[in-house]
Amino acid sequence: MHYVSTRDQSLSYTAAQAIEQGLSRDGGLFLPETFPTLPDLETLRPMTYEQRAAAIMGLFLEGFTQEELLTFARKAYGPEKFDCPQVAPVRELHCKTHILELWHGPTCAFKDMALQMLPHLLTASMQKNGEEKTVCILVATSGDTGKAALEGFKDVNGTKIMVFYPKDGVSDIQQLQMVTQAGENVGVCAVVGNFDDAQTGVKQIFSDPAVRETLAARGYVLSSANSINWGRVLPQVVYYISAYCDLLNEGKIAMGDQINVCVPTGNFGNILACYYARKMGLPVGKLICASNANNVLTDFLKTGVYDRNRPFYNTVSPSMDILISSNLERLLFDLTGSDAEVRDYMAQLSATGRYEVSDRVKAAIGDLFVSGCCDDARTLNTIEKIFHQTGYLMDTHTAVAYTVLQDYRAATADDTVTVVASTASPFKFCDSVLEALGVADRQPGTAILDQLTQVTGKAAPAPLAALAGKAVRFTEFVEKQEMPAVVDAFLR
Ligand SMILES: *Cc1c(COP(=O)(O)O)cnc(C)c1O
Repeated sequence: MHYVSTRDQSLSYTAAQAIEQGLSRDGGLFLPETFPTLPDLETLRPMTYEQRAAAIMGLFLEGFTQEELLTFARKAYGPEKFDCPQVAPVRELHCKTHILELWHGPTCAFKDMALQMLPHLLTASMQKNGEEKTVCILVATSGDTGKAALEGFKDVNGTKIMVFYPKDGVSDIQQLQMVTQAGENVGVCAVVGNFDDAQTGVKQIFSDPAVRETLAARGYVLSSANSINWGRVLPQVVYYISAYCDLLNEGKIAMGDQINVCVPTGNFGNILACYYARKMGLPVGKLICASNANNVLTDFLKTGVYDRNRPFYNTVSPSMDILISSNLERLLFDLTGSDAEVRDYMAQLSATGRYEVSDRVKAAIGDLFVSGCCDDARTLNTIEKIFHQTGYLMDTHTAVAYTVLQDYRAATADDTVTVVASTASPFKFCDSVLEALGVADRQPGTAILDQLTQVTGKAAPAPLAALAGKAVRFTEFVEKQEMPAVVDAFLR
């Protein structure tokens, strides 16, 4: 199976090339030329998560053996990395509502599902392509992605990783997670300024040919771990299929029953993976796309007009605070079937911040997607209400999705069994969760983890609980213009 770019269908790439390159040279995103059909669910049902991952990913990755993929899956999702054997367990909230917990990995957020796998796919791709250099991943992070990438690439042969974060722009817990990072091949550095300063600095390093040349001479090639790489989307397809198998195994649904899926959405990667699972034949009815106050996607899916010219809000679900959802481009390609049409929309987006899709695309979106948004007050209210009604504690992102699902159910008579993607442990967002529970006086630093345990009776995930006793390894902070020197010193 070959891969094409959303902006140029005429060139084709192998899976290994698409994963190594990340982004196509024309600015487009890679996707498979054709989609495989779902394997027989009866054969997937008895499998472990790791086996399901190898079986499903293998359909997309010509040139990778099953044995190879199973080894990657065991390294990515094994007991040293994930704290429960189901990896992505499905918990019943009510008989019609199930929570797919995607945060049992080392950083307690759903980014682990993809970033634990990507390093293995990337290093294997480089070998297959005959690339002998060591890959150095550069990341600018506003919090979650940096830590998940550090954990994914930590001590993976043939890789190094350097993460820059804004000095006063991440939470105490997020900072501690990064500055205590273990691993021989990792670097972490704070940048004076905000996330944009860190991001601009990284982009400048990437686009400087002199830096690339110097590093190439030392045997390094730079790469990124951001969410548009196909190697990050593909591992996410697995958990929707796996969840369906788990629901079958637990007798919650019968073979062939449709389910709805509700996803708290930012960059559109997670919900896109579900769209692909459906395209392969998974019985999914509606895809419910949930946003916070940054509701550019809600408007787009309802009206066909994407317009990023609007205020940006900092919300209690910060991983969804986004105005440009990069992965939407892949959906547009699929619905239009035309690279020319996608090129046109993306050109309008970069020129004016706005585009409107054709009536045909609007109709296709309307058949499949439902969208909704909710503000911080309703998000916090949902956390409190669900905890008191059911004892289930959810984080702010999951609560956005749950609220939007309730709105959808209230507005329609649709009572299809629904899977809600839960994207972070509530302990990752202690401050907002405690606020939701009415606790006004909140502890600083890691003490807030114990506070949430005292209030709810729930235990903090081990990787967060362990933070309190960890030694700080990385104390360096620099001005933005010093970032190239930090990378230079790191790659000596
Ligand atoms: C990244 C993230 C999201 C958004 O996922 P997308 O794939 O970007 O739509 C939602 N919740 C959490 C906790 C995240 O870290």
